[in-house]
This record gives sequence, structure tokens and C-alpha cells, in this order.
Amino acid sequence: MNIQTVGVVGAGVMGIGIAQNLAQTGHQVILIDISENILDKAKHEIRNNIRFQSFFKKSDNTETTDSVLNRIELSTNYKILENTDFIIENVTEKWYLKKEVYPLLDSICPPGCVFAANTSAIPITRIASVTKRSDKVVGIHFMNPVPMKPMVEMIRGYHTSESTIETAKQMLAQMGKECIIVNDSPGFVSNRVLMLTINEAVFLLQEQVATAEDVDKIFKGCFGHKMGPLETADLIGLDTILFSIEVLYENFNDSKYRPSPLLQKMVDAGLYGRKSGKGFYVYQ
Ligand code: NAD
Repeated sequence: MNIQTVGVVGAGVMGIGIAQNLAQTGHQVILIDISENILDKAKHEIRNNIRFQSFFKKSDNTETTDSVLNRIELSTNYKILENTDFIIENVTEKWYLKKEVYPLLDSICPPGCVFAANTSAIPITRIASVTKRSDKVVGIHFMNPVPMKPMVEMIRGYHTSESTIETAKQMLAQMGKECIIVNDSPGFVSNRVLMLTINEAVFLLQEQVATAEDVDKIFKGCFGHKMGPLETADLIGLDTILFSIEVLYENFNDSKYRPSPLLQKMVDAGLYGRKSGKGFYVYQ
């Protein structure tokens, strides 16, 4: 089955990247969020990202920005998802929000439609439990920025069927991506390690062991990482980092996942990183 129409729910950092990637690989996209204002900003950002890509020749796509954008329909109305083949959900990393979205999708989308949860840490089996199609729910943990990252982590929930895994793999292949499949566990492989690393890096900053620049330099200069943990946190979004580490803390009941008070304070102050213009670093 060639997947044609894809619903992307949540038009934040990830939803924007996924919608762009899908449209650039020839898919019809329906991008849903809760307000027209957020959708306007999303469209503006996608336009800028495509221009940036073509300016710096980061994409082989020779299509015009408008023809790519014309494949993306933006709406606050979930009902227009009634003919979608595949859903990628990217709502804020809060269980109380995600658990309302899935029953709604379940009541609107065709019975064969696969739901892919792009969550940082929430178990896929729990997400599937609020639908009537737990065999058709799979985790696809996309990497940010989505159009530039060739690999994703795919998560098999307790009830996820093999045919759902195959459909999700096909969807990813159509988007030009490969996947590594893991079993379900809060945070999966990537974020169980990454969120702890970032949280610990924030503790180091809080304790004034080193500056943000020096924490990051150690990872880049000594370990050869492309980015340090605090730069990575700014790219992901400090709110998403905090919500993810809270999910790990609640799920494992283990104090090693307690969020750093400095991380909490920065989120309270609206310092979300790149998306708000300031986090550990300042952005124009
Ligand atoms: P974000 O805060 O940038 O965007 C979330 C969007 O969801 C917002 O635009 C919000 O308005 C929207 N939303 C909230 N409730 C909604 C609803 N009921 N219906 C439709 N939209 C709704 O967050 P993000 O960084 O894009 O993260 C989205 C998901 O992807 C989270 O689960 C996050 O953990 C996961 N994720 C994030 C990253 C990253 O690097 N930021 C990477 C992989 C996965």
C-alpha cells in the first residue's frame, strides 16, 4: 500500500519538521493544531525552512516552495482526518493532553489507519490503551530537525502487530528514513540515556562546576559529539526536556530521574531554548 495522505497532529517543533519532510517527499499532509495562530506560525516556519534548505543546498528537491506548501492543509478541525492512511501525533509531551487526542482520532480516522506516536518518553502501550486499535499503534521517535535526520527509533508496543510495523517502515522509507526497532519502555533507548545526560549537565551548571559553553565543549572536543548536551537541550526545547524527564520519573519511580531545579526554573521563566529565543544560549 502506498501511503498518500498523512495526518500530522501538533504543529510545534516536530510537527512542522514532519509536515515539511512529508510534503517534500510527495505526500498530501493535513497538519492539525489547536489555534489558527499556531498554524499560521507553522506555515511561516515551513516556508522559511524550505528556503533555507534550498539556499544552503541542503536538499536535492528542486520544487518551488509554493508547490511543496500546497500539499499541506492546515486546520484546527480534526474531522478532516477522516480519509487519512496514517497519523503521526506530535502533541505536547503531557499525558493528560495525549490521552484526549487518541480517542478523538480513533472516532474519526478510518479503521485501517495506523497511529504513530512521536513521543519522547511516554510508553506506547499506554498510548495504545486509550484507543480501540492497540495493534495499529506504534511509536516513531523522530529526530530533530526532522528533514535532516535519516534515522528514527521505532517502538513496538505490547499489542503492535507485525503488519503495523511493516506499514510504519514503509511510511518511513517513503520519507527517506531508516529505523531501528526497540521494545517498549519509558524513554525507549534514546531518551532514557539522553534525558539523564541533559538533566545531569543542568545540575553541573546549577552547581557552577562549569559554564554552559565549557560543558558543551567537553562533549564536542573530548568525545567528538557534534553538539553538547545543553545545545541539544536548547534545540529540543527545555519544556519538552522537563516533561520527558518527569515522565521517566513518574514511570520508574526512581529518584535518578528527578528534574534539576534549574531546569524547572528556566521553564517557569519561559526560557525554552531556540523556540523562545533564549535557553542556555541566546538566539536571534
Ligand atoms: P512543541 O511544544 O513544540 O509542540 C507541541 C504542539 O502540540 C503545540 O503546537 C501545541 O499547540 C500542540 N497541541 C497541544 N495540544 C494539542 C491538541 N489537543 N491537538 C493538536 N495539537 C495540540 O513540542 P514538540 O517539540 O514538537 O514535541 C511534540 C512531541 O514530539 C512531544 O511528545 C515530544 O516529546 C516529541 N518529540 C520532541 C522532540 C524534540 O526534539 N523537540 C524530538 C522527538 C520527539
